[in-house]
Amino acid sequence: MRGGCARIRARLIFRNFAGSKGIPKIQIGLTKDQFRTNTHKFMKTAGNILNFFEPTIAPVAVEAPFAGLTKSGVIKLADSSGVDLKDTWSCGMNGPIQCGACPSCVARKTAFVDAGVVDTTNYENP
Ligand SMILES: [Zn+2]
Repeated sequence: MRGGCARIRARLIFRNFAGSKGIPKIQIGLTKDQFRTNTHKFMKTAGNILNFFEPTIAPVAVEAPFAGLTKSGVIKLADSSGVDLKDTWSCGMNGPIQCGACPSCVARKTAFVDAGVVDTTNYENP
């Protein structure tokens, strides 16, 4: 739960930064496996609430461009596009490197296996 609150605070800070800089949208990495029935409604509602409480900051849309792909599908797409995935972050902890043991890291490791892509991430717990 603590990690979730930290992530929400980080998103709010980023959203405020985006709004103050005139950036019209934020794209988040939610995938098909993470989406629930009401996720789109939640994202829109959250954006409306933020805009209600902070009307002086330009509205920022929240989008999830990978919503139609599974996590392993995103890894396949990124790998085939030449993205160095060891430089991406999934961990829910705040350590200097990814822990390799939290639910997000376990899902990441599983997705690499499912995608058939070698995971070169430097984990605290390989
Ligand atoms: Zn982790």
